[in-house]
Amino acid sequence: MNTTGKVTGIVSNLVTVQTDGPVAENELCYINVGGTQLLAEVIKVNADKASVQVFESTRGLKNGDSVEFLGKMLEATLGPGLLSSVYDGLENNLATMTGVFLKRGEYTDPLDHGKLWDFTPIAKAGDKVIAADWLGEVREGWLPHKIMVPFSFKGNYTVESIVEAGQYNIDAVIAVLKDESGDRIDVTMTQRWPVKIAVKNYREKPRPTRIMETGLRVMDTFNPIAEGGTGFIPGPFGCGKTVLQHAIAKQGEADVIVMAACGERANEVVEIFTEFPELVDPHTGRKLMERTTIICNTSNMPVAAREASVYTAMTICEYYRAMGLRCLLLADSTSRWAQALREMSNRMEELPGADAFPVDLSSIISNFYARAGMVILNNGQTGAVTFIGTVSPAGGNLKEPVTESTKKAARCFYALEQNRADQKRYPAVNPIDSYSKYLEYPEIAGYLNEKIEKGWVEKVNKAKVLVRRGKEMADQINILGDDGVPMSYHEAFWKSEMIDFAFLQQDAFDPIDALCPFERQKFMLDLILDICDKQYEFEDYEKCRGYFKSLINALRQMNYTEFKSKAFEENFEKLQKLLSENGN
Ligand code: ADP
Ligand code: MG
Repeated sequence: MNTTGKVTGIVSNLVTVQTDGPVAENELCYINVGGTQLLAEVIKVNADKASVQVFESTRGLKNGDSVEFLGKMLEATLGPGLLSSVYDGLENNLATMTGVFLKRGEYTDPLDHGKLWDFTPIAKAGDKVIAADWLGEVREGWLPHKIMVPFSFKGNYTVESIVEAGQYNIDAVIAVLKDESGDRIDVTMTQRWPVKIAVKNYREKPRPTRIMETGLRVMDTFNPIAEGGTGFIPGPFGCGKTVLQHAIAKQGEADVIVMAACGERANEVVEIFTEFPELVDPHTGRKLMERTTIICNTSNMPVAAREASVYTAMTICEYYRAMGLRCLLLADSTSRWAQALREMSNRMEELPGADAFPVDLSSIISNFYARAGMVILNNGQTGAVTFIGTVSPAGGNLKEPVTESTKKAARCFYALEQNRADQKRYPAVNPIDSYSKYLEYPEIAGYLNEKIEKGWVEKVNKAKVLVRRGKEMADQINILGDDGVPMSYHEAFWKSEMIDFAFLQQDAFDPIDALCPFERQKFMLDLILDICDKQYEFEDYEKCRGYFKSLINALRQMNYTEFKSKAFEENFEKLQKLLSENGN
């Protein structure tokens, strides 16, 4: 018999319940209010009192209303059909409902039970299997979707029988397994997993060994993110966080994309709804949505549902990772998630931490980022979840708790700057403050040496030093005036501007410039560094400025023409001509 209870107190979505038996933290319950059942989650237990957070409006709820505990935590339903779907944080299918919001007490099914999938068995009768082993495969769009031994199965099993290749719906029994005590268990194409618990469906999680190419020069060359790595993009409103994430989604080398949209305003989420399905995968020409799941939330959805969304998104990634796929999880913005945590903790009247965020904000964020990673599956194959979150610090203050906590958890940092965005220097990533800790990994440096060329990381460092030096010179010139500094200061400044304008800047909306493969990135960096290696003797700083401006123009024109095309070669010749004049 499940534990039941009675409502004894209500503060907005936070409800206190007098219980008649044991309940666990994070356990779910239904609260009965006038014929409707509201889903809620236990967030604190104190003797026979449980504080539960209701996932929707508590309007009409009163003391004495009955509560039924479910004996399980918030779970995600996993199975074929997740891709190209749009869900809310509780995995309600937003496409099957009218409008953006569900009616209270309405929960929809995340997967289509009628649809038939072409199933091909992988395992055969007599095989010994454990949780997450592959039993069979269906095609989801053009991706192979593995049907696995449910992650919750503990111990060893023997495949007693498996169905023949054919068409089945997700509820059909595709295999019967026998456990160690001889009990038989049916396996279908779906399984469930509690979203707040990291799935351990792999053999080991070693350090990442390769880069996830994005076609973005600020990332791939300057601060690459590893496949299975973590990164975050802090930036004030309007600096290009969403544009950058969309570019990464479109171009990143990943099989599956999960987009957790925790919007501030409903219209930001509507944007995702309308824009994302239109995005075209430049690698295949197909709709990006075919291999994407969107989890949507707006701040007018109740906090607990908002809080759940990033966990649901991560669980879906962990599911696809166990199929040997490369997943990319994007969360925009994680600040909204942190704000949901803050609202909940404040209602609980917990002792607050910095800026009234919960005291354990840092560990909540770290534990979440730690679920990303490259893994080696039980069968020796690899899979990855790469996670990139945005943070929207109020007023661009990078010292606020969410940014600081995320900085501890994520290994790449792409700082978007108001200043750069104001000057329309896109992507507005500050090249000096941003970093990728993966460049310090010997595995990654080795990978880059192999993939691009020996000494690549040193070359990139050289470019970074030139940029930093240029900014220092700019400060000096600002203080002492154009005539108050030696010509070498001007030269250093303009060399850094060349790297900044012709290499770091990239137009996300230009069909050619938007996607810059590694080969092209290397070509441009080599070209620019060669120019930087040259010594000049300018008569005056006007000459210096004019010369570099014309070089920057020529380089940018190259960026806008197809690599190695005739137009590209012509622009390259123009540049060579300028170089031969050497500014004099
Ligand atoms: P945020 O999500 O940080 O609020 P957005 O991503 O919506 O900001 O960007 C705001 C605007 O800045 C975009 O609508 C676009 O006009 C411009 N922008 C941002 N990044 C780029 C880019 N890489 N290339 C061109 N324009 C950009
Ligand atoms: Mg945005």
